[in-house]
Amino acid sequence: MERSKKIIKTSIIGIVVNVLLVLFKMGVGLIANSISIILDAVNNLSDALSSVITIVGTKLSGKRPDKKHPYGYGRIEYLTSVLIAVIVLAAGVSAAKESITNIIHPSESTFSVVSLIIIAVAIIAKLAIGIYVKKVGKEINSGSLIASGSDALFDSILSTATLISAILSYIWHINIEGWLGAVISVFIIKAGIEMLLETLHSIIGERADAEQTQALRKAILAHKEVLGVYDITLHNYGPNQFMGTAHIELDDNTTAKQIHLLTRGLAAEIFEKFGIILTLGIYASNNSTEVSAAIKNDVVKTVGEYPEILQMHGLYVDESTKCVMFDLIVDFDADALNIQSEVREKVQALYPDYRFDIVLDSDYSD
Ligand SMILES: [Zn+2]
Repeated sequence: MERSKKIIKTSIIGIVVNVLLVLFKMGVGLIANSISIILDAVNNLSDALSSVITIVGTKLSGKRPDKKHPYGYGRIEYLTSVLIAVIVLAAGVSAAKESITNIIHPSESTFSVVSLIIIAVAIIAKLAIGIYVKKVGKEINSGSLIASGSDALFDSILSTATLISAILSYIWHINIEGWLGAVISVFIIKAGIEMLLETLHSIIGERADAEQTQALRKAILAHKEVLGVYDITLHNYGPNQFMGTAHIELDDNTTAKQIHLLTRGLAAEIFEKFGIILTLGIYASNNSTEVSAAIKNDVVKTVGEYPEILQMHGLYVDESTKCVMFDLIVDFDADALNIQSEVREKVQALYPDYRFDIVLDSDYSD
């Protein structure tokens, strides 16, 4: 709740500043007959709109889970970010269009010193709000806030260009408004596309943050019973809302009671520390007899012949059923099925009376 309160507070500040800017700039723009300032004002209106969208999105995404949406509504925040990115893109395209028109048909603007000062103040206000919103957004991992903060920063650059051309036209009566605007609009369009792509990655499902998975691994390994942690997956249901799975390796003499106590405790600890709902799967590990040590050694050697195999884990030799189990993580670019069958053939040839269960795991996380 703390997070959504911060987002809403920051957005409200953004709305207030932007509405004030719209009023000032509209006044100056109409008096000076400057298309770029009027456009700028319209743009500020769209910024206020993106703050409104952020608030609505935050309210909706904070809705409690229900029967139909048991994972909650957190993913609505991604839609909000997409909407804001589209607004930024649209602002960039309209700035480009207006600038090109201005290059073809330059319009005569008349600026007073007072209007120049007001533009300058507006730039500072926009710069300040942009830096502030972006900073809060980064602190609490809010894509919408980061997007609207970046948007504000671009606007301040756009306004600076307007100011420079206004000063030039005031002193020397040269008009470069169109050219400056054209260059800047290219940057705005580029930023809009980047914002859109970044959010799309979250929606498609991306590789978990390496720092996060490593911290998770470290916390689990801190329990001395855990001999290894593998196959961490994380699914996002909104920023900072994760469900995941991991496989842990335990001694094969561990009892169900011990596993019960360990995994319950771990799940609670991980939720407390990381806010992640983690489900754990168990791999058994045994002290090697002569036979199993030889098999393990040969499997490791065979796997080592393939640089495409990123990891081998969960190796368990069950001598009573004559079964060897292990998992392979193969590089996404390699032919995993082919490598799996090649490895199987090689180890099978060495131990014809054993059955080899080789599972292909995906390279989900670091
Ligand atoms: Zn595995």
